Amino acid sequence: MEKVLDLKSAIRDVPDFPKKGIIFKDITPLLGQPELFKEIIEQTAAHFKTRNIDKVLAIESRGFIFGGPLACELGAGFVPIRKKGKLPYKTASASYSLEYGTDTLEMHEDAFKPGERVLIADDLLATGGTAKATAELAEKMGGKVAGFSFLIVLEFLNGRKKLEGYDIFSLIQY
Ligand code: AMP
Repeated sequence: MEKVLDLKSAIRDVPDFPKKGIIFKDITPLLGQPELFKEIIEQTAAHFKTRNIDKVLAIESRGFIFGGPLACELGAGFVPIRKKGKLPYKTASASYSLEYGTDTLEMHEDAFKPGERVLIADDLLATGGTAKATAELAEKMGGKVAGFSFLIVLEFLNGRKKLEGYDIFSLIQY
């Protein structure tokens, strides 16, 4: 519990970024403290270590920060989930709605084999649109979504509702 408090106090609220009305959860002060960063990875890996994770699917871009060390700690492969047009090889994609318009996420079509167990990692769960689209993409390619890991869940945005039925691990909630 004390550790969770440490984590929370190392997150900086930046009002009106990237636009008016958003309170951006800036995790960079936390990432700069090696013992806190290590704690996040260890606690998250401890939660998933018996779940036979084959691949960690990390969502661009802050998901990469946690997805890399998590994959190493779990003995799993790392798969980048990227915004449209960034991956060089053949891709599979999923689109999701934003406030205005849509966005598209892509992964390499050979990033994992059908039947492999995947963990989806990002820094923060807000409305759940990004995470849900990633799960749809993974499942379309035959993956079994074993769970989601986020450092932070913004509970008041009800993202969990979109991910009902999945295991969600997070260390910090607001
Ligand atoms: P959503 O699809 O609404 O769940 O949004 C999740 C994505 O947006 C994550 O990749 C977060 O990094 C980012 N995000 C959304 N809201 C915030 C916030 N208040 N502070 C920092 N990142 C955010």
